[in-house]
Amino acid sequence: MDEKEVEVTETRAEAPEGADVKRAPKGAPAGASGDAPAPFGKRMMQKPKRRICSFCMNKVDYIDYKDINRLKKYISEKGKIIPRHQTGLCARHQRELTQAIKRARVMSLI
Ligand SMILES: [Zn+2]
Repeated sequence: MDEKEVEVTETRAEAPEGADVKRAPKGAPAGASGDAPAPFGKRMMQKPKRRICSFCMNKVDYIDYKDINRLKKYISEKGKIIPRHQTGLCARHQRELTQAIKRARVMSLI
């Protein structure tokens, strides 16, 4: 008898809590906003193939700030440095590239 009572109270206690808990996380990621409207094409666009850093491919150790033609590929029209997720560079080379671009700016090469 005691066990039954305990079970009942447990299930009763879980029912409202569980529903609330389930609603919060389920609604946000897996809800209509997450899966349904996300177009298939967008997903494909946002998941590009892991590109190998072009500087690593060419085994560039040092990015020269005087090499404007190379730097220009990584600068936007407004003169901004293009972020790493767009350039596909590795962290090390993006860092060196940023430094080189900044040097070129100071030298007013760009
Ligand atoms: Zn690299």
